[in-house]
Amino acid sequence: MLDLSAVKRARPVYRYAPSPTGRLHLGNLRTALLVWQECRNSRGIFILRIEDLDPPRTLPDAEEKMIEDLRWLGIDWDEGPDKNGAAAPYHQSKRSEIYESAMKLLQDRQLTFHCNCSRRKLRIASAPHIGEEAPPYPGTCRNRESRQPADHHADTAVRLNITGFPPIEFMDHRLGFQCFELKNLCGDFIIRRRDGPWAYQFACAIDDAIMGVTHVIRGADLLSSTPRQLAIIRLLQMQEPRYAHLPLVVDRQGRRMSKRIDSSSLDSLRNAGMNPEDARQFILDLPVSTPVPSGSIIH
Ligand code: GLU
Repeated sequence: MLDLSAVKRARPVYRYAPSPTGRLHLGNLRTALLVWQECRNSRGIFILRIEDLDPPRTLPDAEEKMIEDLRWLGIDWDEGPDKNGAAAPYHQSKRSEIYESAMKLLQDRQLTFHCNCSRRKLRIASAPHIGEEAPPYPGTCRNRESRQPADHHADTAVRLNITGFPPIEFMDHRLGFQCFELKNLCGDFIIRRRDGPWAYQFACAIDDAIMGVTHVIRGADLLSSTPRQLAIIRLLQMQEPRYAHLPLVVDRQGRRMSKRIDSSSLDSLRNAGMNPEDARQFILDLPVSTPVPSGSIIH
Protein backbone atom coordinates (compact mmCIF):
# COMPACT_ATOMS: atom_id res chain seq x y z
CA MET A 1 0.00 0.00 0.00
CA LEU A 2 1.44 3.37 -0.99
CA ASP A 3 1.72 6.25 1.42
CA LEU A 4 -1.13 8.60 0.52
CA SER A 5 -0.24 11.44 2.86
CA ALA A 6 -0.07 14.91 1.36
CA VAL A 7 3.24 16.52 0.44
CA LYS A 8 4.08 18.99 3.23
CA ARG A 9 4.12 22.56 1.97
CA ALA A 10 5.28 25.75 3.62
CA ARG A 11 3.79 28.04 0.92
CA PRO A 12 0.45 28.21 -0.93
CA VAL A 13 0.27 25.72 -3.82
CA TYR A 14 -1.56 26.44 -7.10
CA ARG A 15 -1.87 24.20 -10.11
CA TYR A 16 -2.81 24.31 -13.76
CA ALA A 17 -3.97 20.92 -14.98
CA PRO A 18 -4.65 20.75 -18.73
CA SER A 19 -5.63 17.61 -20.63
CA PRO A 20 -3.51 17.15 -23.77
CA THR A 21 -6.54 16.57 -25.98
CA GLY A 22 -5.94 19.48 -28.35
CA ARG A 23 -4.46 22.95 -28.61
CA LEU A 24 -5.08 25.29 -25.65
CA HIS A 25 -7.59 27.93 -26.73
CA LEU A 26 -7.57 31.50 -25.51
CA GLY A 27 -10.06 30.66 -22.76
CA ASN A 28 -7.75 27.95 -21.38
CA LEU A 29 -4.84 30.36 -21.56
CA ARG A 30 -6.78 33.04 -19.71
CA THR A 31 -7.38 30.60 -16.85
CA ALA A 32 -3.69 29.61 -16.84
CA LEU A 33 -2.63 33.26 -16.75
CA LEU A 34 -4.96 34.15 -13.88
CA VAL A 35 -3.91 31.16 -11.77
CA TRP A 36 -0.23 31.86 -12.43
CA GLN A 37 -0.58 35.58 -11.61
CA GLU A 38 -2.38 34.85 -8.36
CA CYS A 39 0.22 32.24 -7.47
CA ARG A 40 3.14 34.58 -8.14
CA ASN A 41 1.43 37.45 -6.24
CA SER A 42 1.10 35.22 -3.20
CA ARG A 43 4.62 33.79 -3.54
CA GLY A 44 3.14 30.35 -4.05
CA ILE A 45 4.36 27.18 -5.72
CA PHE A 46 2.99 26.68 -9.24
CA ILE A 47 2.47 23.10 -10.48
CA LEU A 48 1.82 22.07 -14.07
CA ARG A 49 0.02 18.73 -14.05
CA ILE A 50 -0.73 16.90 -17.29
CA GLU A 51 -4.11 15.15 -17.14
CA ASP A 52 -3.47 12.49 -19.77
CA LEU A 53 -5.80 9.84 -18.42
CA ASP A 54 -7.76 9.04 -21.51
CA PRO A 55 -5.47 7.44 -24.13
CA PRO A 56 -7.80 7.73 -27.16
CA ARG A 57 -8.35 11.46 -26.48
CA THR A 58 -4.68 12.25 -25.73
CA LEU A 59 -3.04 13.65 -28.87
CA PRO A 60 0.67 12.98 -29.46
CA ASP A 61 1.94 16.56 -29.89
CA ALA A 62 -0.59 18.31 -27.67
CA GLU A 63 1.53 18.38 -24.50
CA GLU A 64 4.57 19.79 -26.26
CA LYS A 65 2.46 22.47 -27.91
CA MET A 66 0.78 23.39 -24.60
CA ILE A 67 4.13 23.79 -22.90
CA GLU A 68 5.39 25.91 -25.79
CA ASP A 69 2.30 28.19 -25.65
CA LEU A 70 2.48 28.61 -21.87
CA ARG A 71 6.21 29.42 -22.02
CA TRP A 72 5.77 31.89 -24.88
CA LEU A 73 3.22 33.78 -22.77
CA GLY A 74 5.76 33.96 -19.94
CA ILE A 75 4.12 31.42 -17.64
CA ASP A 76 6.64 29.37 -15.68
CA TRP A 77 6.16 26.56 -13.15
CA ASP A 78 8.08 25.27 -10.15
CA GLU A 79 7.05 21.65 -10.53
CA GLY A 80 5.87 19.88 -13.66
CA PRO A 81 6.51 17.19 -16.25
CA ASP A 82 9.87 18.63 -17.27
CA LYS A 83 11.03 19.39 -13.69
CA ASN A 84 11.38 17.23 -10.69
CA GLY A 85 9.48 18.11 -7.53
CA ALA A 86 8.16 16.87 -4.21
CA ALA A 87 4.92 15.61 -5.78
CA ALA A 88 6.31 13.89 -8.90
CA PRO A 89 5.28 12.36 -11.24
CA TYR A 90 3.25 15.13 -12.87
CA HIS A 91 1.65 13.04 -15.64
CA GLN A 92 -1.54 11.40 -14.42
CA SER A 93 -0.77 8.45 -16.70
CA LYS A 94 2.18 7.68 -14.39
CA ARG A 95 0.17 7.86 -11.13
CA SER A 96 -1.93 4.70 -11.45
CA GLU A 97 -0.51 3.05 -8.33
CA ILE A 98 -1.57 6.04 -6.25
CA TYR A 99 -5.14 5.89 -7.60
CA GLU A 100 -5.17 2.12 -7.08
CA SER A 101 -4.26 2.54 -3.38
CA ALA A 102 -6.83 5.28 -2.88
CA MET A 103 -9.55 3.19 -4.52
CA LYS A 104 -8.60 0.25 -2.30
CA LEU A 105 -9.27 2.38 0.79
CA LEU A 106 -12.79 3.09 -0.48
CA GLN A 107 -13.34 -0.53 -1.50
CA ASP A 108 -12.27 -1.78 1.94
CA ARG A 109 -15.02 0.39 3.42
CA GLN A 110 -17.57 -0.99 0.91
CA LEU A 111 -18.09 2.45 -0.55
CA THR A 112 -17.78 1.33 -4.17
CA PHE A 113 -19.45 -1.20 -6.45
CA HIS A 114 -18.80 -2.71 -9.86
CA CYS A 115 -21.01 -1.67 -12.72
CA ASN A 116 -21.43 -3.20 -16.16
CA CYS A 117 -23.91 -0.72 -17.58
CA SER A 118 -23.61 0.22 -21.27
CA ARG A 119 -20.60 1.97 -22.83
CA ARG A 120 -22.70 5.07 -23.37
CA LYS A 121 -22.34 5.86 -19.68
CA LEU A 122 -18.52 5.77 -19.95
CA ARG A 123 -18.64 9.16 -21.58
CA ILE A 124 -19.72 10.72 -18.28
CA ALA A 125 -16.30 10.08 -16.74
CA SER A 126 -14.39 11.70 -19.58
CA ALA A 127 -16.65 14.72 -19.95
CA PRO A 128 -16.41 16.81 -16.81
CA HIS A 129 -17.45 20.13 -18.32
CA ILE A 130 -20.84 21.73 -18.09
CA GLY A 131 -23.10 20.73 -20.95
CA GLU A 132 -21.34 17.36 -21.35
CA GLU A 133 -22.99 15.55 -18.49
CA ALA A 134 -25.47 12.69 -18.63
CA PRO A 135 -28.48 12.32 -16.30
CA PRO A 136 -27.76 11.05 -12.76
CA TYR A 137 -26.87 7.34 -12.58
CA PRO A 138 -30.02 5.47 -11.53
CA GLY A 139 -28.26 2.96 -9.25
CA THR A 140 -28.90 -0.09 -11.48
CA CYS A 141 -25.74 -2.05 -10.55
CA ARG A 142 -25.63 -0.80 -6.95
CA ASN A 143 -28.87 -2.67 -6.34
CA ARG A 144 -27.79 -5.68 -8.41
CA GLU A 145 -24.33 -5.91 -6.81
CA SER A 146 -25.78 -6.21 -3.30
CA ARG A 147 -27.75 -9.30 -4.44
CA GLN A 148 -25.24 -10.82 -6.88
CA PRO A 149 -21.73 -9.31 -7.20
CA ALA A 150 -20.45 -9.04 -10.80
CA ASP A 151 -18.18 -12.02 -11.70
CA HIS A 152 -16.05 -10.28 -14.29
CA HIS A 153 -14.57 -7.37 -12.39
CA ALA A 154 -12.04 -6.77 -15.14
CA ASP A 155 -14.80 -5.68 -17.50
CA THR A 156 -16.71 -3.46 -15.10
CA ALA A 157 -16.57 0.18 -14.10
CA VAL A 158 -16.07 1.07 -10.44
CA ARG A 159 -18.52 3.59 -9.01
CA LEU A 160 -18.72 5.38 -5.69
CA ASN A 161 -21.87 4.50 -3.76
CA ILE A 162 -23.28 7.85 -2.68
CA THR A 163 -26.22 6.47 -0.71
CA GLY A 164 -26.78 8.52 2.42
CA PHE A 165 -24.33 11.27 1.47
CA PRO A 166 -25.18 14.67 2.96
CA PRO A 167 -25.39 17.64 0.53
CA ILE A 168 -21.90 18.79 -0.41
CA GLU A 169 -21.38 22.38 0.73
CA PHE A 170 -18.35 24.54 0.02
CA MET A 171 -17.31 28.14 -0.32
CA ASP A 172 -16.33 29.11 -3.85
CA HIS A 173 -13.96 32.05 -3.55
CA ARG A 174 -15.36 33.71 -6.69
CA LEU A 175 -18.99 32.56 -6.80
CA GLY A 176 -19.84 32.33 -3.10
CA PHE A 177 -21.47 29.56 -1.07
CA GLN A 178 -22.37 26.41 -3.03
CA CYS A 179 -24.51 23.41 -2.15
CA PHE A 180 -24.97 20.34 -4.38
CA GLU A 181 -26.92 17.11 -3.86
CA LEU A 182 -24.88 14.37 -5.52
CA LYS A 183 -27.97 12.26 -6.15
CA ASN A 184 -29.46 15.05 -8.29
CA LEU A 185 -26.16 16.05 -9.87
CA CYS A 186 -24.71 12.69 -10.95
CA GLY A 187 -25.67 9.82 -8.65
CA ASP A 188 -23.04 7.11 -8.00
CA PHE A 189 -20.20 8.47 -10.09
CA ILE A 190 -17.42 6.58 -11.83
CA ILE A 191 -14.00 6.17 -10.24
CA ARG A 192 -12.50 3.86 -12.84
CA ARG A 193 -13.98 3.33 -16.26
CA ARG A 194 -14.98 -0.04 -17.61
CA ASP A 195 -12.36 0.24 -20.37
CA GLY A 196 -9.58 0.90 -17.81
CA PRO A 197 -8.80 4.63 -17.43
CA TRP A 198 -9.23 6.39 -14.10
CA ALA A 199 -12.04 8.93 -14.09
CA TYR A 200 -11.09 12.59 -14.12
CA GLN A 201 -13.12 13.30 -10.95
CA PHE A 202 -11.25 10.69 -8.92
CA ALA A 203 -7.71 11.27 -10.19
CA CYS A 204 -8.02 15.04 -9.92
CA ALA A 205 -9.33 14.90 -6.33
CA ILE A 206 -6.60 12.50 -5.22
CA ASP A 207 -3.85 14.49 -6.95
CA ASP A 208 -4.94 17.87 -5.60
CA ALA A 209 -5.01 16.45 -2.07
CA ILE A 210 -1.76 14.45 -2.26
CA MET A 211 0.20 17.13 -4.10
CA GLY A 212 -0.69 19.52 -1.27
CA VAL A 213 -2.56 21.92 -3.56
CA THR A 214 -4.06 24.68 -1.44
CA HIS A 215 -5.81 26.67 -4.23
CA VAL A 216 -7.77 25.14 -7.11
CA ILE A 217 -8.63 27.91 -9.55
CA ARG A 218 -10.25 26.81 -12.82
CA GLY A 219 -13.04 27.60 -15.26
CA ALA A 220 -16.66 27.77 -14.11
CA ASP A 221 -17.46 24.89 -16.47
CA LEU A 222 -15.88 22.67 -13.79
CA LEU A 223 -17.94 24.03 -10.87
CA SER A 224 -20.13 20.93 -10.75
CA SER A 225 -17.02 18.70 -10.62
CA THR A 226 -16.05 20.19 -7.26
CA PRO A 227 -18.76 18.46 -5.18
CA ARG A 228 -17.66 15.08 -6.60
CA GLN A 229 -14.02 15.82 -5.87
CA LEU A 230 -14.83 17.05 -2.39
CA ALA A 231 -16.87 13.90 -1.71
CA ILE A 232 -13.75 11.81 -2.40
CA ILE A 233 -11.46 14.10 -0.41
CA ARG A 234 -13.85 14.19 2.56
CA LEU A 235 -14.38 10.41 2.55
CA LEU A 236 -10.62 9.85 2.62
CA GLN A 237 -10.16 12.65 5.19
CA MET A 238 -7.57 14.34 3.00
CA GLN A 239 -6.66 18.02 2.91
CA GLU A 240 -9.29 20.16 1.12
CA PRO A 241 -8.05 22.90 -1.20
CA ARG A 242 -9.86 26.24 -1.51
CA TYR A 243 -11.83 26.42 -4.76
CA ALA A 244 -12.52 29.34 -7.10
CA HIS A 245 -14.23 29.06 -10.50
CA LEU A 246 -13.54 31.74 -13.07
CA PRO A 247 -15.88 33.11 -15.72
CA LEU A 248 -15.36 31.64 -19.21
CA VAL A 249 -14.27 33.43 -22.36
CA VAL A 250 -17.16 33.67 -24.84
CA ASP A 251 -17.24 34.41 -28.57
CA ARG A 252 -19.27 37.17 -30.22
CA GLN A 253 -22.42 35.01 -30.05
CA GLY A 254 -21.87 34.48 -26.31
CA ARG A 255 -20.85 30.79 -26.76
CA ARG A 256 -18.03 29.50 -24.61
CA MET A 257 -14.81 28.37 -26.25
CA SER A 258 -14.05 24.70 -26.52
CA LYS A 259 -11.22 22.56 -27.87
CA ARG A 260 -13.88 20.79 -29.91
CA ILE A 261 -15.30 23.80 -31.74
CA ASP A 262 -13.14 26.08 -33.79
CA SER A 263 -11.66 28.53 -31.28
CA SER A 264 -8.64 30.74 -31.64
CA SER A 265 -5.26 29.62 -30.45
CA LEU A 266 -2.23 31.69 -29.60
CA ASP A 267 -1.12 31.52 -33.26
CA SER A 268 -3.83 34.02 -34.23
CA LEU A 269 -2.28 36.56 -31.85
CA ARG A 270 1.31 35.77 -32.82
CA ASN A 271 0.44 36.04 -36.50
CA ALA A 272 -1.14 39.43 -35.82
CA GLY A 273 2.32 40.51 -34.61
CA MET A 274 1.63 40.64 -30.87
CA ASN A 275 4.48 40.14 -28.44
CA PRO A 276 3.89 38.08 -25.25
CA GLU A 277 3.02 41.16 -23.19
CA ASP A 278 0.39 42.37 -25.70
CA ALA A 279 -0.98 38.84 -26.00
CA ARG A 280 -1.32 38.54 -22.21
CA GLN A 281 -3.26 41.80 -22.06
CA PHE A 282 -5.43 40.85 -25.03
CA ILE A 283 -6.31 37.50 -23.42
CA LEU A 284 -7.10 39.08 -20.05
CA ASP A 285 -9.41 41.61 -21.76
CA LEU A 286 -11.49 38.99 -23.65
CA PRO A 287 -15.25 39.00 -22.91
CA VAL A 288 -16.37 36.46 -20.31
CA SER A 289 -19.51 35.08 -18.73
CA THR A 290 -20.26 32.65 -15.90
CA PRO A 291 -22.46 29.64 -16.66
CA VAL A 292 -24.33 28.28 -13.65
CA PRO A 293 -25.00 24.52 -13.61
CA SER A 294 -28.38 23.39 -12.34
CA GLY A 295 -28.13 22.00 -8.84
CA SER A 296 -25.95 24.74 -7.40
CA ILE A 297 -27.07 27.34 -4.91
CA ILE A 298 -25.28 30.65 -5.16
CA HIS A 299 -25.60 33.33 -2.48
N1 GLU B 1 -7.90 18.57 -17.10
C1 GLU B 1 -9.11 19.34 -17.07
C2 GLU B 1 -9.29 20.05 -18.38
O1 GLU B 1 -8.33 20.23 -19.12
C3 GLU B 1 -9.13 20.42 -16.01
C4 GLU B 1 -8.86 19.95 -14.69
C5 GLU B 1 -8.98 20.94 -13.55
O2 GLU B 1 -8.52 22.10 -13.66
O3 GLU B 1 -9.49 20.51 -12.55
O4 GLU B 1 -10.38 20.47 -18.67
